[in-house]
Amino acid sequence: MMFHRARHNRIGLLSLIVCLLVNHGWSQDTPQAANITGPLLLIQQASLIITFDQSLGAGPLGTLEDADVLIEGDTIKQVGHGLRADTAKVIQGQGHIVMPGFVDVHNHLYQSLFRGGCGEEDVLGWIEHCNMPVRLAATAAEIYDAVRLSTLDLINSGITTVADWAHLFAPEVAEANVRALSDSGLRFVYGYSQQRPGVEALKQLKRDWIDRNPLAAFQLTSGTTARSREHIRFMVELANELHVPLHVHLLEHIQQRDDDPVQILQDSGALALGGNLLVAHSIHLTEAEIVLLAKHGVRIAHCPLSNMRLASGIIPLPQLASAGLQIGLGLDGGTNDTNDMFSNMRAAVGLQRAATRNPQVFPSVTEVLQMATITGARILGLDAQIGSLTPGKKADVIMLNMRTANFGPRWDWLTQIVFTAQPMNVEYVFVNGRPLKEHGKIVNNGLAEVLDRLDSATGRLKEKMHH
Ligand SMILES: [Zn+2]
Repeated sequence: MMFHRARHNRIGLLSLIVCLLVNHGWSQDTPQAANITGPLLLIQQASLIITFDQSLGAGPLGTLEDADVLIEGDTIKQVGHGLRADTAKVIQGQGHIVMPGFVDVHNHLYQSLFRGGCGEEDVLGWIEHCNMPVRLAATAAEIYDAVRLSTLDLINSGITTVADWAHLFAPEVAEANVRALSDSGLRFVYGYSQQRPGVEALKQLKRDWIDRNPLAAFQLTSGTTARSREHIRFMVELANELHVPLHVHLLEHIQQRDDDPVQILQDSGALALGGNLLVAHSIHLTEAEIVLLAKHGVRIAHCPLSNMRLASGIIPLPQLASAGLQIGLGLDGGTNDTNDMFSNMRAAVGLQRAATRNPQVFPSVTEVLQMATITGARILGLDAQIGSLTPGKKADVIMLNMRTANFGPRWDWLTQIVFTAQPMNVEYVFVNGRPLKEHGKIVNNGLAEVLDRLDSATGRLKEKMHH
């Protein structure tokens, strides 16, 4: 009896151990545990949350007051009032606005190399006298540092996704460029181009640096001048082969009408890419061309600060919007010398108001906030992942501190974001749930070293400029 009992007890103990081991081994498959994919972060009692999802809150931007955002790992888990998560790290949100990070749909990050360069030139002079000579003289290491500098500026300004339009860089320069983007922690779309003989290097770069990085996506790039007629045809062919979008510059300068670039887009098959064709600028379009672009569902990158700096002209934004075109905002690199999305929104609104003497013209405050977030995400084909605080989307979230000398008091916070806010109001930046700016400071930035190296390069690079 004793023996039996002892054996029974041993078996009981054994089953208990086996049971514990099995339970431990299977714990990821239990429904409760399967949802735990990373640490919990609770932003509590935020004074205003702008979700950009009408199903989550009030008005066209889906706003909530004194509410919470729960982030789990890389994902937005819940948005609402009185959320609880006992194990979560908590950030107090009083006096703060929480919203999705900004999406910059058109930039050239290496161009921080020559900020302030050719300050009295239009785009054609700027390209000839600054951009081209400096770009050709810069080393891969200098391109890395310049891109790194721009990414720090983007993070500082609350931008969480950037489309970086690169030129026909040599493969080692392109690699330095995309390495700096990867090191930044930002979500990014790399736009790159090669001639036919270099296409294997392009595909290799895409495999090594884009396809393996969940924060990265790829675009092909091209010009739309008469000289690029053959190249754009090749890029359209490649875009169809690789199933990636094509991103081009279109009618930035009035003289570019001479090449009839919309016809080039038509003839090359680029227009047929539809929503997979992203055109930057598109200032000097005819009415018939606006209708044609809208018919194909082409996407537009509007860069108002750049258009002002280079005297390019004023885009007919209300006509583009009423034709049904989707328009996002871009910062356009050295052609505006900053990555400040608040200034860019202000300029997008201000240019149209000044041109029409109508304060109710497109874009309104609501519309420009959408352009800088959810519409930008849509234009880059990323709206299923980012652009709003919809639960299930990636946690690309920013927090703005409104209790500052430049921002308070609270009158109309949505309007204040557009007309009053500055990058200094950006207190927290999360990309994929990871903090890149905390307590108003960029995390792990290495800024001083980057600036030292760039400052010692500018002397040599300035000598390469044509005067
Ligand atoms: Zn550009």
